[in-house]
Amino acid sequence: MSDIPSALEPLYPEPGADLGSILDERLTSAAFDAAQAVVRCSRSLGIPSYAVGGPIRDMLLGRSVTDIDVVVEGDGISFAGELAAGEKGKMVEYARFGTALVVLPGGVKIDVATAREERYVKPGALPAVEPGSLDRDLLRRDFSINAMAVRLGPDEYGRFVDTYGGIRDLEAGLIRVMHDGSFTDDPTRILRAVRFETRYGFSIEDRTYRLLEDAVRSAVLAEVSRQRLREEIVAVLKEEEAHSAVSRLYEAGVWKDLFGSDYRLPKKLEERFQSADEAIVWYSELAEEHGLTGARPWLVRWLLLMSDTPLGTTERITSKFHLGKTALKSISELKERLEKVRRFLETGDFGSKSTLYRMMEGLAPETMIYTVAVSGREDTLHRIEQFLLELRPIEAWVNGNDLKVMGLPEGPLMGRLLAQLFDAQLDGIIRTREEAHIEARKIVNNRSR
Ligand code: ATP
Repeated sequence: MSDIPSALEPLYPEPGADLGSILDERLTSAAFDAAQAVVRCSRSLGIPSYAVGGPIRDMLLGRSVTDIDVVVEGDGISFAGELAAGEKGKMVEYARFGTALVVLPGGVKIDVATAREERYVKPGALPAVEPGSLDRDLLRRDFSINAMAVRLGPDEYGRFVDTYGGIRDLEAGLIRVMHDGSFTDDPTRILRAVRFETRYGFSIEDRTYRLLEDAVRSAVLAEVSRQRLREEIVAVLKEEEAHSAVSRLYEAGVWKDLFGSDYRLPKKLEERFQSADEAIVWYSELAEEHGLTGARPWLVRWLLLMSDTPLGTTERITSKFHLGKTALKSISELKERLEKVRRFLETGDFGSKSTLYRMMEGLAPETMIYTVAVSGREDTLHRIEQFLLELRPIEAWVNGNDLKVMGLPEGPLMGRLLAQLFDAQLDGIIRTREEAHIEARKIVNNRSR
């Protein structure tokens, strides 16, 4: 057990092998404590429990494992209840799926599920669920590399369970579905397959890829709820090598299927993603140092994905997948203003501070990052920094209340006056608070005459 497992050697054990000490070594100390709590609970209830899925895959690949997913051959919800009570943690129950989330006092989360079988009544819809054995549970999973388990308790701690050849595929670097109907049962697996392929530098196994193409051709993605699609799209955009996954999904026809035939993949995608990543690092450091609002890197990448697509289509796609109001605002403002903003920021003489302020005011952080990325110029970056660090924190010397006291009613005129006074303050035409108030009073008096 260690806090920061370094890059460890991948391991390809035989099914049935004892992985107890490997498990202890490759879990972070928090995940190790969680596993021990599950072992204790399993012993006290006499119910078999297993760590399964992604964490086992990652452990074997030599990656750090920070949390565990547990499957029990018994009632997962009452197991989770006992686990939470025994460890003085909390439990959230998802009765419909026979799963529960246990949060231990230190904040470690453990997903506990009843070993189950799933029947797909309709493609793309959520399945009907029945209790089953571990092997049946592993069979319902998306890919063989995600269908391996390690026993935790009550006995045989560390026994490796690989019923469906997951380790063989892990070693060969293959993403393989568990059965031919897999993509039709759950089309989100199309995006998941590409995501894992990209993340680990694996290949989708030939037959699996043919099934994936068939599924895309028969438009199964249209059966999936937009919310689930959204989650998968965001997950793709969060991957480190997102651009490869994005291109691969385009080749497979997924984006045209989801976004419509007028969607265009931007040219020079890799280069653009790289510039965006650099701009994301620039902003994150700035935000951390100066306490600015954080940005969502996936949203910057989403903007990139839409950069060669007309505004109307982009807006339709963004609202269809509920990518959020901010996303929509960022996209619209960006498409409408980007060229103007860019030209402005890139000209040698960028005019007054107030012009810079008005140009950047209200832009979402993601839009600013995107602007830096597509501009690729140092001076664009410096101007945005000037806006964020120097201009935006400035407080106006005259506010709406002051104008009201001077006798000006609320309304559009007040807004214009405040802007005019603030611009003069930014540009140094008005130099003190006192001067600002004198000027304000003068303007208000002139208007009321
Ligand atoms: P990540 O590292 O991206 O979190 P993960 O494999 O842990 O990868 P999760 O989405 O957390 O991914 O899913 C946990 C496990 O649940 C998977 O390893 C897989 O066994 C199973 N699973 C998840 N989604 C599906 C799906 N759509 N169909 C079948 N099994 C799935």
